[in-house]
Amino acid sequence: MAHYDYLIVGAGLYGAVFAREAAKRGRTSLVIDKRPHIAGNVYTEKIEGINVHIYGAHIFHTNDRNVWDYVNTYATFNRFTNSPVANYRGELYSLPFNMYTFNKMWGVVTPEEAAEKIAGQRAAAGITEPKNLEEQAISLVGTDIYEKLIKGYTQKQWGRACTELPAFIIKRLPVRLTFDNNYFNALYQGIPIGGYTKMVANILDDPHITVRLSTDYLTDRRYMNSLADRIVYTGPIDAYFDYSLGYLAYRSVRFETEILDQPNYQGNAAINYTDAETPYTRIIEHKWFEFGRDEEGNELSKTVISREYSSEWTPEREPYYPVNDEKNGELLKAYMRLAAGERNVLFGGRLGEYKYYDMDQVIDAALETARKLP
Ligand code: UDP
Repeated sequence: MAHYDYLIVGAGLYGAVFAREAAKRGRTSLVIDKRPHIAGNVYTEKIEGINVHIYGAHIFHTNDRNVWDYVNTYATFNRFTNSPVANYRGELYSLPFNMYTFNKMWGVVTPEEAAEKIAGQRAAAGITEPKNLEEQAISLVGTDIYEKLIKGYTQKQWGRACTELPAFIIKRLPVRLTFDNNYFNALYQGIPIGGYTKMVANILDDPHITVRLSTDYLTDRRYMNSLADRIVYTGPIDAYFDYSLGYLAYRSVRFETEILDQPNYQGNAAINYTDAETPYTRIIEHKWFEFGRDEEGNELSKTVISREYSSEWTPEREPYYPVNDEKNGELLKAYMRLAAGERNVLFGGRLGEYKYYDMDQVIDAALETARKLP
């Protein structure tokens, strides 16, 4: 049996980038994943000629030129710009919050009028220092937008009241006094042509890297540990320690995916259902990430949609989002103290660090860690 410099647990973005960077420095890696495929939650699968984002929509966006150059070494990106639409009981609003949204909500026409409206609602709510997501949202966009476009969606997404959630979550969304429907404040954005799976396969394609799928680390750790000098663990940090200090909370997502015999279901990649009653948070129509065409440029006659249902994580479900509230923050600190005592083990990625990382941040973290390798 071969012996490796690294055993990398998890073939998602963090694990793949780390393995490739280690390879560049002459180190060998065995990358394992308990799932039967690579790419973690960015995994895409071709259905009816459409790259379906099996574990939820991923739109690559970054301000980091270094990360953008990095991913462009392994994939060609299209010019997709994310512009989701919010559906509140049949009323459609542009996202993120911008002049189109303000015009539809209040009939205001100029940036000055919009700013005045928001300032008025903020003052009426009497918030000076936002302490939670609700207060943060109202102070950013006022009560009307909070009530129609944020409150219901957020409570479905997180299963918690907006007053119990950290303010930073809503700061992910830009607020603009311009007519700009680009969801992200990012200099670079796109979807890898041919899907994320192909991009991750290219990252892993190096003679120093061996990949073994359908291989669970936690159920066979003694043997697995014997295969390498060092471990890079990208699974949930609490699972690594057998939940000995308690369970960290995660949100899980269930997707109801359907192939429809029609070319256009909703006219956009993402429609968010922002009321509290609709049981799903959003519907993704995957073909619009690639302009409704296959790689040869032919229009596709069918479509694939996924309804996204959010739920609290339980051990038989997949963890997606860390719940970065105070209670879980404290528990994380305790797990991090245990992690610091693990010799030769690095914890990385959204689950390994329990951080609401975007893809570019995961890649940057893996590059940074690999750069400091002895
Ligand atoms: N959000 C909202 N209404 C929307 C979209 C997002 O209130 O229509 C809030 C919600 O709290 C969500 C957060 O903004 O959790 C971050 O949204 P983002 O789209 O960044 O979440 P992700 O795509 O990572 O699920």
